[in-house]
Amino acid sequence: MNEKVVTRFAPSPTGYLHIGGARTALFNWLYARHHGGKMLLRIEDTDRERSSEAAVKAIIEGLAWLGLDADEPPISQFERAARHREVAEEMIARGQAYYCYASQAELDEMREKARAQKRPPRYDGRWRDRDPSEAPAGVKPVIRLRAPLDGETVVHDRVQGEVRFPNKDLDDLVLLRSDGTPTYMLAVVVDDHDMGVTHIIRGDDHLTNAARQTLIFQAMGWDVPVMSHIPLIHGADGAKLSKRHGALGVEAYREMGYLPAGLNNYLVRLGWSHGDDEIMSMDDMIRWFDVDDVNKGAARFDFAKLEAVNGYWMRHSEDGWLAETLMRERDFLPNGDILRMADDATVLRLLTAAMPGLKERAKTLVELADSAAYLFVRRPLALEEKAEQILADGGRGVIAMVLPALRAVDDWSVPALEAAVRQVAEANGLKLGKVAQPLRAALTGRTTSPGVFDVLAVLGREEALARLADQSGA
Ligand code: GLU
Repeated sequence: MNEKVVTRFAPSPTGYLHIGGARTALFNWLYARHHGGKMLLRIEDTDRERSSEAAVKAIIEGLAWLGLDADEPPISQFERAARHREVAEEMIARGQAYYCYASQAELDEMREKARAQKRPPRYDGRWRDRDPSEAPAGVKPVIRLRAPLDGETVVHDRVQGEVRFPNKDLDDLVLLRSDGTPTYMLAVVVDDHDMGVTHIIRGDDHLTNAARQTLIFQAMGWDVPVMSHIPLIHGADGAKLSKRHGALGVEAYREMGYLPAGLNNYLVRLGWSHGDDEIMSMDDMIRWFDVDDVNKGAARFDFAKLEAVNGYWMRHSEDGWLAETLMRERDFLPNGDILRMADDATVLRLLTAAMPGLKERAKTLVELADSAAYLFVRRPLALEEKAEQILADGGRGVIAMVLPALRAVDDWSVPALEAAVRQVAEANGLKLGKVAQPLRAALTGRTTSPGVFDVLAVLGREEALARLADQSGA
């Protein structure tokens, strides 16, 4: 039997694609890719009050940005309600489910009684074997699963191991409500079956659901998919992930300037590892990922690590590609307007030329845009306070001293510029740094920037000399 692997990502569109959901999608996507199978997307939109089209769109866009697109068009769970109803009725016909006419008052009473006896609330099975002819007139029944009363249900989980649930703790859950709408538990099972899902990979908050869902699969005589319940992501302090810790939608990470390669690389390492490898390309991940290696313990989200990983992928990106990516992402970045300070062709040309110096320092696209600003600012430059101080403290004199040598440079290249500046520094008994500092302040208006010879070269002779002349005090 060589069954094709089918995984699914099944978000509820009640909010954006959050970071935990993105990791779940990534694991499903990688598992499918690793096995040459496919990943499907099911939008669990049965809660009509809380679901929205905007959230569906954000989820699909978030997945597309991360490169984790599903292999088929998304399936709406809500639209499949008739099929869910059909299965509930089939279960009645098979004797695996029954109509229950218990009133709300009766159910409340059962719950109260259980609470008083300190038992978990559990439906007492009062309609399980009762003849439907006894049904009270005018009451619309629910359909309940005829769950086994004793024995246990075992979830064979690839991450959690064998997890056993005594059946006495799993009551006759409702499959179809009295208004004919399916419950979540029924909908998930029917959809997973009909979609041909072979592997379920999801958060371990669904582990108890897995036992109940197993009972439904078994009642229908369907194969139970292979389950993997992955640990949730916690904050750096070990507490449940909150906004403060990074429990944000993926679009927030896009706005913070992370690359999909960086974010995916960081996320895959949350709960899963491959030896000591920290840095992995998507191809590495596809080759190496296996759900058996996912840890049971909660993973901790750490912004510093995310930044470090992202910085790696920025430094190892090709210059032209990174420049284009930065420009394409400018609508999402809070400081994206920096990339609109000149016409697009000029911005792209200057960015690409400056990129080797820029990308060494930046950990995010936001930092990259910020450090590129010097390329596009107009003369005379607005100086940051510290830069102004350097120029005021003798820096202007230094610039006046260096200017003639720079003007004399024929070949406006890093080595020639460096040689010229060094010579002036040596001739005047100054350390190179003492000369570089005011040059940087005058050329960029700041005290930090890529290497000053790079800056000179990238700006070009005319612009660089003009910026220096503006500050030479002459
Ligand atoms: N819709 C559920 C959620 O967002 C996932 C259900 C599942 O994966 O079975 O948590």
